[in-house]
Amino acid sequence: MSLSKLRVIFIFFCVIFSLCVVRIVKFTLIDSRELVSSPYNKRLATRDERVVRGAILDRNGAPLAQTDEASGAREYPLKKAGAAVTGFAGAAAQGAEGRYAFELTRVHNELLARARNLIDGSPIRGNSVELTIDAGLQKKAYELMDGRRGAFMAMETATGRVLAMVSNPSFDPSEVPENWDQLSGDTEGNPLLNRAAQGLYPPGSTFKLVTALAGYDSGNAGLTYVCKGEEDFGGNKIHCINKTAHGEVDMKKAFAVSCNCYFAVLAREAGYEAMDAAAERFLFNKPLPFDLPTLKSGFALDGGTSAIEAAQTAIGQGRTTASPAQMLCVVSAAANDGLLMRPYLLDSVASAEGKRLKKILPKQEGRILTSEESLFLRGLCEEVTENGTGKSLKGTKIAGKTGTAENKGADHGWFVCYAPADEPKIAAVVFLENAGGSKPCLPIAGKWLEYALGRERDKEE
Ligand SMILES: [Zn+2]
Repeated sequence: MSLSKLRVIFIFFCVIFSLCVVRIVKFTLIDSRELVSSPYNKRLATRDERVVRGAILDRNGAPLAQTDEASGAREYPLKKAGAAVTGFAGAAAQGAEGRYAFELTRVHNELLARARNLIDGSPIRGNSVELTIDAGLQKKAYELMDGRRGAFMAMETATGRVLAMVSNPSFDPSEVPENWDQLSGDTEGNPLLNRAAQGLYPPGSTFKLVTALAGYDSGNAGLTYVCKGEEDFGGNKIHCINKTAHGEVDMKKAFAVSCNCYFAVLAREAGYEAMDAAAERFLFNKPLPFDLPTLKSGFALDGGTSAIEAAQTAIGQGRTTASPAQMLCVVSAAANDGLLMRPYLLDSVASAEGKRLKKILPKQEGRILTSEESLFLRGLCEEVTENGTGKSLKGTKIAGKTGTAENKGADHGWFVCYAPADEPKIAAVVFLENAGGSKPCLPIAGKWLEYALGRERDKEE
């Protein structure tokens, strides 16, 4: 190679290098000021404002969030009913708006779009994201919750696709900017908290799925016990609900009627190591995999735990805390032959013109249970709706576990479940804060699952 050619190459690289230096200097001295001054320091808040934010669509292409190009306003057709999913855009963005902000403001064929914008002023449109959510199922869940404080979440057991997610009290995402002070300052109602993913509560008796697994694995599946309504643990007592004496119970019966005494004794028999191992397999004390931020559910039994505290922790009180999303994963894995599919929200990304750019496939989170363990837990869950605390459920055959969790106020109500019982397709969790018990959770889950399975059937036909 001649010297002159080398010189040209050298100069070429010098120019590129200088451009890089200029870009870095500009970024550090000028742009970064904008970044720092953004109240939430979101890199994306500084994206080009000429880009029309892409739409958030449901699994059938129905809009969950879209931008009106004339006014520039962000619209949320589901309003309060979709808020836990969509979240809101702008500073401190949350939900899908926050999580997929990068995709929504990214432009496919950007150079071409910008050139066209310069020539004829046509809008520069961001990519759209399609979620796993079904707008119809989402609305139905919100309606059935009927404004009651709590959370609802459901997913396909075989894929992990989240079909609906509700958190109450909710908010209208289009009115967040003007209501910001009121929404963010409401520490009592906490409407901006996604209770499904980030609310931590005592799971109460839904946790007996974990205790039952520990009992099964430690060779105590055949344990029988005579319940007198209360049981002594180191001088303190565990009570069954309303101090009901359940009489002689085996594990199936105890699970169906939700006998606290039986399960506290079972945990003691199983040993706290077996309990720890079971909780860990169900992802307690570990980050819960999900597209939106979650809080770690907690389970703690150690040398410092008193006998009564250990007994309470083993029945989902005391030192056990869980999010509704966590309990959904527990029941979904139990229903799906022990295989936990990673719950997810983002199905695909497409350009503004509708060209698919990315498709997300279902992902296995792990085999949590053996087939035998899964069948064992399913047998327990079926007994609940056949002869136990869930037998008021009519129609579609559902299996699951109710939960009543004591706390400072009135008891929280839970129901974790799946349907159809003999061929699980969808798992759901209903959590109602201070509902006084699990009863009001049952019809919400029942009606929603019936509706959801009906829609699936319609689609197949
Ligand atoms: Zn009992």
